[in-house]
Amino acid sequence: MKKALITGITGQDGSYLAELLLAKGYEVHGVIRRSSTFNTSRIDHLYRDPHVNGVKLFLHYGDLTDSVQMVKLLYSLQPDEIYNLGAQSHVRVSFDVPEYTGDVVGMGAQRILEAIQEAGLVKKVRYYQASSSEMFGKVQAVPQIETTPFWPRSPYACAKLYAHWLTVNYRESYGLHASSGILFNHESPRRGETFVTRKITRAATRIKLGLQEKLYMGNLDAKRDWGYAKEYVEMMWMMLQQDNPDDYVVATNETHTVKAFIEETFGLLDLDWEKYVEYDKRYDRPAEVDLLIGDPAKAKKQLGWEPKVKFKELVRIMTEADLELAKREAQIASLPAL
Ligand code: NDP
Ligand code: GDP
Repeated sequence: MKKALITGITGQDGSYLAELLLAKGYEVHGVIRRSSTFNTSRIDHLYRDPHVNGVKLFLHYGDLTDSVQMVKLLYSLQPDEIYNLGAQSHVRVSFDVPEYTGDVVGMGAQRILEAIQEAGLVKKVRYYQASSSEMFGKVQAVPQIETTPFWPRSPYACAKLYAHWLTVNYRESYGLHASSGILFNHESPRRGETFVTRKITRAATRIKLGLQEKLYMGNLDAKRDWGYAKEYVEMMWMMLQQDNPDDYVVATNETHTVKAFIEETFGLLDLDWEKYVEYDKRYDRPAEVDLLIGDPAKAKKQLGWEPKVKFKELVRIMTEADLELAKREAQIASLPAL
């Protein structure tokens, strides 16, 4: 039985990846942060009492800022595969907390890579780095591929670029089986509620049911290549099953504006978006990434991977899921006070 360690297991991608690996028969270990409120809602359905025989999901307290804990964890677990998904992953927030973002996203990867060395796992373990299309930033070519020059536009993207090149460097310097997935924006009903897609589907469905009146947004002209998170985690796994590690763009090769996402969502709900959406400058960024579109030809050629869910289907999946959530909220709101 293979053993995998996932940082960021409580996040959107971590939860889908844990599901995928458990279904493949892996023993899955995840790093979680201690929090004063529960932060495991995305993986609660996977969790079983560890005292029961046959349990294959284990959670360990830790943090990407804590290198000693990382070394101890790698020594004791001796994993076959490590997926580094943990991050302060919000671009706008990274302008508010640049040092922390650099520490977790950039130095966090450094700490794991050094822990791999320290635990003597260089020849045994396979490492996945969650790189990002944000590294292309002020884009130098359209569409973006693995060799397109990077031009990061936020502290988040700068930190991701550092982690990306470290991954390449450990591969070249020490022969570590280390791969980097340059994933374009990927969404799902489990996406954090402050990312633009989920913010829109949550708000539109709540407006539909009378739970909310307005949706305040920033730049509606930005273009993104949005894919489905559940499909993208398959690529993470596939990269580590190759004989040779490599870097891959994971994208749909389609791009749409934020405004188009709003129109599609409100349209599905028979609402006129212009009546509800207003501008608030607080959601603008000091430097914006205007256009992202990725060509995943290399992933298709070398790994046979292709995305199936495209823009309209993605909006439908998210809107339907959030409409159910809003209905439950509306039911609770209508209960008589005790
Ligand atoms: P999420 O924001 O949903 O999840 C981030 C995860 O990282 C959470 O489990 C979070 O824990 C954990 N985390 C945050 N800070 C720390 C820390 N200091 N130590 C340990 N863990 C920490 O991100 P996604 O699932 O969407 O993305 C997964 C990875 O892929 C991230 O690295 C992200 O930057 C990257 N990425 C994402 C893209 C996307 O479109 N989703 C595109 C390209 C790259 P907690 O639950 O406690 O907050
Ligand atoms: P990002 O591509 O990783 O920054 O993902 P986001 O989902 O956070 O943002 C995607 C795009 O939507 C960016 O160009 C934002 O500037 C734009 N956007 C416009 N309004 C908003 C908003 O209210 N919230 C967020 N998160 N993004 C917004």
